[in-house]
Amino acid sequence: MEIVRNKNHIINYLKDFENKKLKKPCRCEKCGRKSRLIWHAKYVRKIITLFGVYNLPVKRLMCPLCKHTFALLPEFIQKFHRYAKDFIAFALEKLRKFAFSEVMGKLDKFMEDAAISPITLYKWKNKPCFNSS
Ligand SMILES: [Zn+2]
Repeated sequence: MEIVRNKNHIINYLKDFENKKLKKPCRCEKCGRKSRLIWHAKYVRKIITLFGVYNLPVKRLMCPLCKHTFALLPEFIQKFHRYAKDFIAFALEKLRKFAFSEVMGKLDKFMEDAAISPITLYKWKNKPCFNSS
């Protein structure tokens, strides 16, 4: 995972969302078939990034073939996580050099009133897909 050192990706996503310029994928995430996906709904998702906490709007799509819906997540969001990919990458980079408690201290400054748990860090450290690059 690569660490992005600026927040342009977040700003660009918000602009594209606002201007209705988000690009639909050409295949359904659930059934994998090529399909004319339909905008279905939207929701707000809280995401913790290296640039602060964002309430990010996310659109959902529906596949007319299988009728399933799924979220169109921006690339910088890790599915099923409330932390952005670069936040996780930053934590993993620091865990190579520092103890868990020190890394928690380094991360807490990005998180406003929240705090990261050592269990979360432990899970990230031991998750093969986060450590492949
Ligand atoms: Zn489908």
